[in-house]
Amino acid sequence: MEIQGVGIGRGVAVGPVIHMAAGLDVPGDEARPESLTADAEFGRVESALASVNKDLLARAKAAQDGQGAKDAAPILTALAQMAQDPALKTSIRSLLDGGKTAERSVYEAFADFEGKLQAIGGYMGERANDLHDVGQRVIAHLLGVPAPGVPESDKPFVLVAPDLSPADTSSLDMTKVLAIVTIEGGPTSHTAILARSRGIVAVVGAQDAAGLSDGQTVIVDAAAGKVTADPNQEQIEKAEQARREADQAKALRGRPGQLKDGTRIPLLANVGKPADADPALEYGAEGVGLFRSEFLFLGNEQAPGVEEQAKAYRALLERFPGRKVVIRLLDAGADKPLPFLTQADEPNPALGLRGLRTLKVHSQVLEDQLEALARADAETDADLWVMAPMVADEHEADYFVRLGKSKGLKRVGVMAEVPSIALMADKVAKVADFVSIGTNDLTQYTLAADRTLGSVASYQTAWHPAVLRAIKLIADAGQANNMPVGVCGEAAADPDLAVVLAGIGVTSLSMTPVALDDVRAELAKHTMDEAKALAAKAVDGEFYHPQGW
Ligand code: PEP
Ligand code: MG
Repeated sequence: MEIQGVGIGRGVAVGPVIHMAAGLDVPGDEARPESLTADAEFGRVESALASVNKDLLARAKAAQDGQGAKDAAPILTALAQMAQDPALKTSIRSLLDGGKTAERSVYEAFADFEGKLQAIGGYMGERANDLHDVGQRVIAHLLGVPAPGVPESDKPFVLVAPDLSPADTSSLDMTKVLAIVTIEGGPTSHTAILARSRGIVAVVGAQDAAGLSDGQTVIVDAAAGKVTADPNQEQIEKAEQARREADQAKALRGRPGQLKDGTRIPLLANVGKPADADPALEYGAEGVGLFRSEFLFLGNEQAPGVEEQAKAYRALLERFPGRKVVIRLLDAGADKPLPFLTQADEPNPALGLRGLRTLKVHSQVLEDQLEALARADAETDADLWVMAPMVADEHEADYFVRLGKSKGLKRVGVMAEVPSIALMADKVAKVADFVSIGTNDLTQYTLAADRTLGSVASYQTAWHPAVLRAIKLIADAGQANNMPVGVCGEAAADPDLAVVLAGIGVTSLSMTPVALDDVRAELAKHTMDEAKALAAKAVDGEFYHPQGW
């Protein structure tokens, strides 16, 4: 049986299913049978509390020792302490003295404390869920049933759940969870975000997964967004092979990006905020190839001040001493509207004021951002490169490069996102220090297909030879003028396309950090001559398959 969902990443896993244990029913409020004394029941409760405490501490230690998510250790320790809280015990004792059952007393005492935490709100309010989780564990222990939430198992398994809450995910033991399959949730659900950031094999929104039984073997294929139940031997072997390749890819982490013959293709990370430096470094990025600076502006009613911006840039640059960090100026407009800069009534926003066009109109915003970048650059040791989005030709490139240099910035370049800049690439290469190709927009504008519109989604592929030819024009101009040409759109994250891009002459690739392993491994399999041969075929359209025509 094959179950379709939305895959996150490219991983493959094979293993037995374990469903997330269902929530417990609320214990009934009937009177306690007379045969059960309050003392005896309190004894039972104390032993359940002690077991839960011990179990949580053991899991905290395992997490600390690297068997689970390390950041889960303090959370699990705090949960363990909740199970030994004297005020809770006193409250349970008095409910037992009032004639309630052990299960009901635990339920009511925890619910009361949860309510108090919720009333305080903020950080304490968020702990109410954690306390609820501890209470459920104690009740499950009293009833002799598995604790609800993420199951425990000695053997690795594929976790099937309706969806995972942040509390569930904090206690996931990644040495045991081979993959996650959720019945609900989409590509932006909490589970998907977690899977992406931690590189967990996952298929989300797989509705029919509810019908899988515990112990049933499945293949979870994230690249295909598919879960195969009861696979045959041949399917299992194929999946195991894919998994081994993924493991081998991981083993190359920490090595620089290069082709088989040693030609260097630096692999960089796309990041959206300074804290994203963590996954970038974890996955072995050699630097940052695209820092989308929009996060500083989104949700604000005006542009942040120079010092506020400089602080954020410093925070990023300090994480990459001596390494390349490419920061993109604000890209407002079209799919990233900013109310204080973007006109709301443009009939075709993608063809309107966006990127550098917006910045030119709001020149103070542009000057302030360059000023902030120059300030952060002067105070840190990273190799800062600065670029503008949505640049149309050499005139706009010249305007931006001059302005950036006048602020003291050393490396100033442009993004290539519209076909006009590709057609003018020979002239652009004379004025810009570098070009970074934004294939998401370059594809949208080359194929005249809105990247946000589902009905034309099939056009949104950089495998289209028209897009590759545009890239080639830029790469050729780069080579002729000794100008670096990177790719920082989604295309760089496709391992096969990454080889083609290297063959076309692209000199660096920047992508979401989790894609780095697979791209690094694929590049290492091909020499430059092989990459060039593949590139020639791709530019000729050999690998492009039009859909529906
Ligand atoms: C691109 O267009 O490829 C790009 C990297 O920029 P964004 O996706 O932020 O528009
Ligand atoms: Mg873009």
